Amino acid sequence: MGKTGTCQLCKKETVLELSHLIPKFIFRWIKETGTGYMRTSDNFNKRIQDGFKDYFLCADCEDLFCEDENYFAKNIFLPVVNRDVAVLEYDHRFYGCVVSIFWRVLKYTILAEEKDQAFYPALCALEKEWRLGLLSQGWNREDNRLHLLSGVDIVTVVAEDPVEVPDKMIQYMGRMVDAGIADSDTKCMLFLKIPRFLFIYQLFGFDGADFISTCIRPEGGYYDRGSAKIADTDVAGFFLGRAKMVEKMFSGMSPGQREKTQKFSDEKRNEVQGKDLGKILGYAQRKSNNN
Ligand SMILES: [Zn+2]
Repeated sequence: MGKTGTCQLCKKETVLELSHLIPKFIFRWIKETGTGYMRTSDNFNKRIQDGFKDYFLCADCEDLFCEDENYFAKNIFLPVVNRDVAVLEYDHRFYGCVVSIFWRVLKYTILAEEKDQAFYPALCALEKEWRLGLLSQGWNREDNRLHLLSGVDIVTVVAEDPVEVPDKMIQYMGRMVDAGIADSDTKCMLFLKIPRFLFIYQLFGFDGADFISTCIRPEGGYYDRGSAKIADTDVAGFFLGRAKMVEKMFSGMSPGQREKTQKFSDEKRNEVQGKDLGKILGYAQRKSNNN
């Protein structure tokens, strides 16, 4: 049963549907290919990682998202997570779907938390631009701010600038959901992390030359993860930090909790062996043995 209120997209007073912040096919896939449980890394992201839902869209607006979401699930997400497809040919619906998720996260969690920041007006302007774009299904064709890194091995360590890559980076890229905003004195970006996909939306301060073959275009195009690369070390540092947080979350558990988790993992190990979770854990193990 719906509930009456203001639809956050079309602004009509009407009956609202229970809407998901992150499309539910993503959480369904994570549950089906793992232990059936979801882990959370911090409180802010708990809402995102639980597959958070609330009444914020009317039925018409919810329908607007539907086609792009189905396209994304069938043509982009599932081929990559299930068959490790590296080259994607996509149309406008890929951009539309990713922006719709970004819009929901921005509108529902980020704006409320960033009111005191100097870039708050820029976030509000972006929210408005996306809202009007979603309503009219019309986008600025020249937009080159949406970028993607795909796969599980996204970090290449170069000799001139050695960094420590946390063991959990593979799990972070492979299986986790994370979203939010990252900023420094000079740069600001929104990010959206779902299994195998790391999307970045640049707000300001980035050098286009650092983003090589990573752009997702509003009109459609090709994406080849073999040539995609982000050379900005601030961006790399931020995501290594997110993966470290995941590591800390495991080591921060009480001995009792850890034992319980360990026992649980032993019991479940056979069960996840043939599933994606088993594959990712095995790959991370081999990689850490080789280091
Ligand atoms: Zn609406």
